[in-house]
Amino acid sequence: MEQHPRPKGVVYLVGAGPGDAGLITVKGLRCLQEADVVVYDRLAGPRLMQFAKRGARKIYVGKLPDRHAMKQEDINRLLVELALEGHTVTRLKGGDPCVFGRVGEEAALLAEHGLRYEIVPGVTSAVAAPAYAGIPVTHRSRASSFCVVTGHESPDKLDEMIEWDKLTQATGTLLFLMGVAKLRYIAERLMAYGRAPDTPVALVRWGTRAEQATITGTLATIADEVERAGFASPAVIVVGEVVRERERLQWAESRPLFGRRVLVTRARDQASELTRRIEDAGGEPYEYPVIELRMPESPASREALRQALAQPDAYDWLVLTSVNGVRFWFRHLREHGADIRQWAHVRIVSVGPKTTEALQEYGIQPDIAASQFSQEGVWEALRPHAAAGQRVLLARGDLSRSWLRETMEAHGLHADEVDLYETVLPEEDDPELIEMLEQRMIHIVTFTSSSTVTNLMAALRRMGLDDPAQALGVARIACIGEITARTAREAGLHVDVIAASSTIDGLMEAMLELGKMKKTV
Ligand code: SAH
Repeated sequence: MEQHPRPKGVVYLVGAGPGDAGLITVKGLRCLQEADVVVYDRLAGPRLMQFAKRGARKIYVGKLPDRHAMKQEDINRLLVELALEGHTVTRLKGGDPCVFGRVGEEAALLAEHGLRYEIVPGVTSAVAAPAYAGIPVTHRSRASSFCVVTGHESPDKLDEMIEWDKLTQATGTLLFLMGVAKLRYIAERLMAYGRAPDTPVALVRWGTRAEQATITGTLATIADEVERAGFASPAVIVVGEVVRERERLQWAESRPLFGRRVLVTRARDQASELTRRIEDAGGEPYEYPVIELRMPESPASREALRQALAQPDAYDWLVLTSVNGVRFWFRHLREHGADIRQWAHVRIVSVGPKTTEALQEYGIQPDIAASQFSQEGVWEALRPHAAAGQRVLLARGDLSRSWLRETMEAHGLHADEVDLYETVLPEEDDPELIEMLEQRMIHIVTFTSSSTVTNLMAALRRMGLDDPAQALGVARIACIGEITARTAREAGLHVDVIAASSTIDGLMEAMLELGKMKKTV
């Protein structure tokens, strides 16, 4: 009987880098985005998982507090099975997969089965964690070589595996991974084989992440220092003269939002600017978009839009109140086969500089650009130009307040409201976020509208948190404006800062104020 060859998948063995999501390679990111299945562990960092394809299967094989990690042999077999099933698999590993990443065993079994795989190198923590602590592993006048050594084994095993005499004398900087528990032994051995007791040593824990912490000492003192500070793994141990550079070169830890993981709740396509700004300030953003905007589905909304778009001549004014409003306005025009030139006689009001910019991208200069980003701001700007009897089309999102329409009508204008888009709660759960909240790993929560507040609370409840306000209570809360803050308070949250101007700039400034405060978590 003729046998059809089974469809075979591919396994990408990808280095995730040390934790800062920006440190994955371009190729590694592509593999992550294309995979149907992502197999990952603790060191790969939760944030990268957000780049996985929607609906991709995510399999965690790392250690959990309540159970052991999956055995290496089982992981090897899992990868083979997934590839045999025809999947595109990305095996995401912390740092570089070839540096104590056991990639050799995974690749060997795949090779044995004739399965296709690729190794995608990553930025190893051995080099990156010291770099983020201001320690270059080589230096023109301090070290011309470095050596990466395992500290994982028992002392006997270490003695068997490591030629201490050669190691201490042959190379400049020594970098031990997985060595925190054996630090005292390692330091003693290095001194016994000829390194001076005053050789500087640094430990960098969770390098490049919000949890990064550094402790320094000498070979003679470091074990006591680490014990006293309760300094725990995972950390890179750096031994050598290069550690002295930290005093001058330390950079990451002095950035204003260093050490803060910031939850960004706004819609995904809007989040990038805020995310980038948080990164620039040294914080670690974590995106959980609780808002998704889509074309309105209710027949009433669709009908109102259809009517409005069919009669541009009925209006004197068109008010567009957000960047999203502008984008959706043009989507609707396209969908209805309309042309913006039919609206040439209608005067356009925009709110806020971003909305104005968005309009300019479409070749439109608004007649009035309200600087205050609120309905009150629109009215203030429009009022001197509007006359009773004129007709206004208020094109906005489905959650907008009716204040502006009512105010206009009270002044004798006719205002029609249309919903350009609908705001919905995305369906995808995020167990990583729940885990991080429980571990107090979220330090600041940002709300950029009232709906981000209500939707986050709803999403957390849906994911099984009985008391979301309490879960968020361990973090600082930053709101973009007074109305958002009021909604947050009504939801039982303690608001720590409110942006002075309701813009991303304002929100960043407010967060920098928080950055100056002592961390409570
Ligand atoms: N393949 C990884 C190393 C895996 S071994 C790499 O190239 O980085 C695990 C050890 O790596 C940990 O015990 C710790 O010593 C080190 N490590 C991994 N990520 C780290 C980080 N962000 N900060 C400090 N040490 C880290």
